[in-house]
Amino acid sequence: MLIFHRVQDLIKALQNLRDHSIGFVPTMGALHEGHLSLIRASKQENDCTVCSIYVNPTQFNNSEDLIKYPRNIEKDCQLLQSENCDILFAPTDAEMYPQGFHAELIKIHFGTIETILEGAYRPGHFQGVGLIISKLFNIIHPTRAYFGLKDLQQCFIIKKLVSDLSYRIELRFCPTVREKDGLAMSSRNALLSDEARQLAPQIYQTLLQVQKALEQGYSTQGAIHFGKHFLLQQKEFQLEYLEIVNFETFEFLESVQKNTKIAICLAAWLKNVRLIDNLVFELR
Ligand code: AMP
Repeated sequence: MLIFHRVQDLIKALQNLRDHSIGFVPTMGALHEGHLSLIRASKQENDCTVCSIYVNPTQFNNSEDLIKYPRNIEKDCQLLQSENCDILFAPTDAEMYPQGFHAELIKIHFGTIETILEGAYRPGHFQGVGLIISKLFNIIHPTRAYFGLKDLQQCFIIKKLVSDLSYRIELRFCPTVREKDGLAMSSRNALLSDEARQLAPQIYQTLLQVQKALEQGYSTQGAIHFGKHFLLQQKEFQLEYLEIVNFETFEFLESVQKNTKIAICLAAWLKNVRLIDNLVFELR
């Protein structure tokens, strides 16, 4: 695996690959099976797979969250090597945001979607995501780019970014990889205490409870109420949101129609760790 820390070095290396397909997997590192599933998907479809590892400061609205974000570049390199990833791009902040770069001057807006759910609780987050992904797309010019449905709203934002800015990139959205007990894999899981780790699968269980309630004919509000009650039986959780949206449009649903793809989205703090998850399904 080739490793690049500088934009110009990566661009030079990729110039030799212009006739080949390039698959791109952007990450913030502390890699787990969820990330590796994206690498594998890219390896299957492309001649060359590029993974980026960069903890992007402009998408963090909370400086403490940025500082404590898990980092383990040596282990990440080993994992990527074992998946036969071709190129790792791991830039520094100075490389991505050199002196004179003013992130606040380049703002991409996504409309209502950036003000709800994750956007409501992490103001500016999606602007930061839009900015870094645009920069990485412009540097790498991938044929295809791979994202996890674990970050469902982010997938929607990326789809909009590619459409609004006319990127000629095929997007692939891959299923959420879970631990055996249902907890969605996340770099942040490493921050959970042993006790919190035991409780964390309740988030997925809550999503399943809401799904079951909808299948039993509960209204959306009834199902949400039921889900909140279920999760908050454990006092260690602080719920930020539990909502039901249309999978295609991300609009909040007053009621759920049959044969419409919907997503139940949840974000909660478990002690001092923020976890998100979602469940996508169709009512039959
Ligand atoms: P992150 O490093 O958290 O920014 O994630 C990098 C990419 O991996 C994003 O597209 C995520 O949606 C995806 N990802 C993170 N966790 C999972 C998971 N458990 N299953 C599938 N994809 C994931």
